Amino acid sequence: MWIFLNDRFVTEQDAKISVFDHGFLYGDGVYETIRSYGARIFMRDHHLSRLHRSADAIGLTVPIPPSEWPRLLHEAMDRNQLGNDQTDAYLRITVSRGVGEIGLDPALCQTPTVVIMAKPLHPPAAELYQRGVSLVIAQTRRNLPSALSPQIKATNFLNNILAKREAIAARVFDALLLNWEGHLTEGTVSNVFFISQGRLYTPSVECGLLDGITRTILLQMAGELKIPVHEGRFTPEELLHADECFLTNTSMEVMPVVSVNGQSIGHSTPGPLTRQLHRHFIDNRSRFLEP
Ligand code: PLP
Repeated sequence: MWIFLNDRFVTEQDAKISVFDHGFLYGDGVYETIRSYGARIFMRDHHLSRLHRSADAIGLTVPIPPSEWPRLLHEAMDRNQLGNDQTDAYLRITVSRGVGEIGLDPALCQTPTVVIMAKPLHPPAAELYQRGVSLVIAQTRRNLPSALSPQIKATNFLNNILAKREAIAARVFDALLLNWEGHLTEGTVSNVFFISQGRLYTPSVECGLLDGITRTILLQMAGELKIPVHEGRFTPEELLHADECFLTNTSMEVMPVVSVNGQSIGHSTPGPLTRQLHRHFIDNRSRFLEP
């Protein structure tokens, strides 16, 4: 596997970073996960803008000019024989504060560390889409007010990792995190939607969640299908009484959810509007692919 590290492509064996990297020491960094369909990258510029926004929010200067990213992403795919008719690519960009003496002051680090990894994209098994998945509501909360904003896609992901541990312990697909007020936010790596009486609901960004790029597209597509949309503050009880539920993210697209905390959602099968939205997404995603 070829990996871009700072200023060149190196082999996996040579892709080593220092134990003094503040990304390693403190989780001081930001990242993006992006995918391709064949050679074309889904919502590339939106992902790159979000990367730069996340970096700005923590005062980190990304040392790669925005105009350079498309070439680097394509080179990462080409060098790893990805992004062709056989294999879609999963791309991960990480930018950390870089190497510096121990201590929290970002000024201890001279140059950010940049890594691009390109791997084959393995979407969840088809069976999961057919049957739907189960979730739990985690005890771990997403974030407290004035703590790290969930809108920053930061390499510090411990709350979500603790929630994922809860899902693994409960032997379910994933966990939903609540915010400090007990309102729904999102899954550990996805956004959550539910449907009640033909209306689509999703927690608003102010609840403290990552403004997912797939979420934005889904909301747009719901509009195209004339499904009324409500963004707001929702309790777990409202979700448990919903007719349908699903998760979205870049690599999964739309994943139906059929139970939460052991309680069935709707008829315990992927619901008709969830299927319709996913079908519309599949039929229209080529509109959002960049060369
Ligand atoms: N929420 C979190 C916490 C995530 O990590 C992700 C993606 O990894 C998402 C939501 C979905 O974002 P996107 O649709 O941009 O992939």
